[in-house]
Amino acid sequence: MGRNSSTSSHDSLAMLKEGNARFVSGRIDGRNRDRARRLETCEHGQSPAAILVSCSDSRVPPEIIFDTGIGDLFIIRVAGNICGPSEMGSIEYAVEHLRVPLLVVKGHSKCGAIRAVVKQEPVTRHFNSIAQRIMPAVKKVIDTKPSLSGDELVEECSKENVWQQIENLLLESSTVRNAVTYSYLEVIGAYYDLERGDVNWMGKHPNEYLLLNALADFKRETATSPGT
Ligand SMILES: [Zn+2]
Repeated sequence: MGRNSSTSSHDSLAMLKEGNARFVSGRIDGRNRDRARRLETCEHGQSPAAILVSCSDSRVPPEIIFDTGIGDLFIIRVAGNICGPSEMGSIEYAVEHLRVPLLVVKGHSKCGAIRAVVKQEPVTRHFNSIAQRIMPAVKKVIDTKPSLSGDELVEECSKENVWQQIENLLLESSTVRNAVTYSYLEVIGAYYDLERGDVNWMGKHPNEYLLLNALADFKRETATSPGT
């Protein structure tokens, strides 16, 4: 299969924005959820418009909030929308084999996973591997914005965590790094507001150029991620 020539990252983003606008306005059309779409994607294979890293939180179901259906989104759902080894493996598959042009790491308001890390709640053994991935974002916010507390602190950490996970991805996955460098993949952040139902599009990582082109220097300057 060649590159996903039928869809550009621009088209994919437009599709997500339009779907979310329908969701917010209450005019969901539930497209691509019928028998015809099922059979079409079964016979011709999948060609999803975007890869989405989303929290497992039951209040943020991607197909509903973007009004999409079968074969539209390649979704990785994990508490705290982290990018660890398993998540990166799924992402690399979609980039290499499905040629998906857009990757969105989407955080959300009132995230329990982020709150647990901020509040230093006792966590289980395996949740700890998730917490370790979120921790650098929390430390960064506490260091740079020491006046924040309570819900404000959690929200700020959730937003910073989106950048943290994109950073993990670009630093640790050469597949993703190459795809972005050679412009067949765009990686952006997003933030979903539980109450309003809308998505704030955060754009590319502010240090994407550094992450791609001055990797060694960047790693030295920001060597805060545990286990890396
Ligand atoms: Zn969450």
